Amino acid sequence: IGKYNYEELKRKIENLREKILLNLNHVDNKTKIRLLKADITKVDNVDAIVNAANTSLLGGGGVDGAIHRVAGPLLLKECRQLNGCEVGQAKITSGYNLPVEYVIHTVGPIWKGGNADESQLLVACYRNSLRLAQKCNIRKIAFPAISTGIYGYPVVEATKIAFQVVKEYVQDNPGDFDLVEFVLFDDSTYNVYLKETGSNLIEL
Ligand code: ADP
Repeated sequence: IGKYNYEELKRKIENLREKILLNLNHVDNKTKIRLLKADITKVDNVDAIVNAANTSLLGGGGVDGAIHRVAGPLLLKECRQLNGCEVGQAKITSGYNLPVEYVIHTVGPIWKGGNADESQLLVACYRNSLRLAQKCNIRKIAFPAISTGIYGYPVVEATKIAFQVVKEYVQDNPGDFDLVEFVLFDDSTYNVYLKETGSNLIEL
């Protein structure tokens, strides 16, 4: 790092970000897939955000709690009508006080060591969320890192699944999405996503 000054370093980092976006843009001519380090409740450039909910759909900790706090009590009211959601499935509600129109609630698997169908269930979360979005003509969608918080799914493995499924879905449904955004809350998750997308920060 010694040989660069601050401005040069900043420019290099921006260039790398650009590269990441460009790499991911190749997935499909029309669909952009990108990473964002942010609080998903503040994301306002998509039609829907995905909630990593639990089977009750009545709120909880982590991103679920944050979404319900910002959306307000009408979200909970609508969720009560949905009769819960099975692991791997997805249901949609309005976004209320969130800056997006919709919330897609999906229930990730709880990590139990890897022999309880966790990977297939996580695949189902991403696939069913995208399918539901497509059905509702949602063209821009943001995902948190489902199951990797309180549910304990190993982040690297979960990230590989998230990317693989989204890439495949976008390729199989060309032109149906404008943007799929992975919104990562903490540095360590963001760094795993950077690495798993093939960007190489060591270049710095
Ligand atoms: P799960 O129960 O599915 O593991 P969590 O909410 O505990 O869900 O964690 C999933 C991921 O969401 C974790 O990486 C966590 O850091 C992240 N997260 C927590 N709050 C937010 C938020 N406001 N916006 C985006 N991601 C968040």
